[in-house]
Amino acid sequence: MTVIEHRTATPAAGPGRTGVEFARAEEHTARNYHPLPVVLSHGAGAWLVDVDGRRHLDLLSGYSALNFGHSHPVLLEAARAQLDELTLTSRAFVHDRFAEFTEKLAALCGKDLVLPMNTGAEAVETAIKVARKWGYRVKGVPAGRAEIIVAGGNFHGRTTTIVGFSDDPVARDDFGPFTPGFVTVPYGDLTALEAALTPHTVAVLIEPIQGEGGVVIPPEGYLRGVRELCTRAGVLFAADEIQAGLGRTGRTFACDHEDVVPDLYILGKALGGGLVPVSAVVADRDVLGVLAPGQHGSTFGGNPLACAVGSAVVDLLTPGDLQARALALGEVLRAELEALRGHGVVGVRVRGLWAGVDIDPARGTGRAVCEALLERGVLAKDTHGSTIRLAPPLVVEEADLRWGLRQLAEVVAG
Ligand code: PLP
Repeated sequence: MTVIEHRTATPAAGPGRTGVEFARAEEHTARNYHPLPVVLSHGAGAWLVDVDGRRHLDLLSGYSALNFGHSHPVLLEAARAQLDELTLTSRAFVHDRFAEFTEKLAALCGKDLVLPMNTGAEAVETAIKVARKWGYRVKGVPAGRAEIIVAGGNFHGRTTTIVGFSDDPVARDDFGPFTPGFVTVPYGDLTALEAALTPHTVAVLIEPIQGEGGVVIPPEGYLRGVRELCTRAGVLFAADEIQAGLGRTGRTFACDHEDVVPDLYILGKALGGGLVPVSAVVADRDVLGVLAPGQHGSTFGGNPLACAVGSAVVDLLTPGDLQARALALGEVLRAELEALRGHGVVGVRVRGLWAGVDIDPARGTGRAVCEALLERGVLAKDTHGSTIRLAPPLVVEEADLRWGLRQLAEVVAG
């Protein structure tokens, strides 16, 4: 594993390779991202090194895909060993890493069945299809009338169906016409949710914490309320834990904070350990069992490499020490960020090792703060104008975390 020395001063960006490589990367690329001006070449744990040898502390973790940090030795070993054996069969044939992965993931979720896919958006699409089919075949909703309730401010991915029920104009505008059958209610509002339920509602699809929205934590009792309303109305509760789940919030699932078990877990990101795309929908047999051969699939979903890495990820989460670490470091994160209120920060939301920080607009945009952090060797990402999302790898050292937060404090203090 590459050893990266920590917390040395980051030299100011100089001529070096960064500018050249950055320009090259822009040259033949669609402009669907606006990356910070850094070109990374390798990483270990919470640290990355760019092409000019500068070190950066990763406070984004690939939007939680890197919960276990960069180049985790156990995950690398699992992947390397599998590369020498078998990497793809398609689901036309069964391979010898499949059962292990689905058994382990089902056990982690306390559910019967796993449907493996690749990306988060695919897993959300899968959950939508399953909920609709369940609605028609089990609940008895008339054909073509299924409704799924979603929350305002949601982010569930980028497919045309999913952006169709986004209320973010940047994600949605110019991509219609959209798939019908979605009803939006305000996030965190149980009264509105109850009022939106109809005999045709098949599912409520929400993020237990809205990540892209700026780490928006719903009011205490909301998830329990959603669970109760769904149970009473005979509606599936589909929890998109793609960004919130798998240790990020200090529990295995964000729903665990309210002791709530949804009908469908939608998982992705960290399930692939930052090595390969792995996502899944996990549910009991009476729900996922509605699918028959040919009705859904993926060439790469559940491939041997994905299963080997996914199994190793579940093994890392099973003892619970990483979740405990996220909880403990989360208290450091909370204390340091709360101290910034009134010093360039106007809002702080923390759950586990995950925070949304609202920058005082007078101090500049979230983007400007992230650019200033980059100068100091800290990588973070803005969202929605003036909010910064912090999601360090769960393996980050406390001293490194404190150092990164000190850089933020100095930047926002102006
Ligand atoms: N759902 C949530 C809650 C997400 O945060 C994301 C990505 O940020 C997705 C779904 C989409 O995942 P992917 O980018 O892997 O398609």
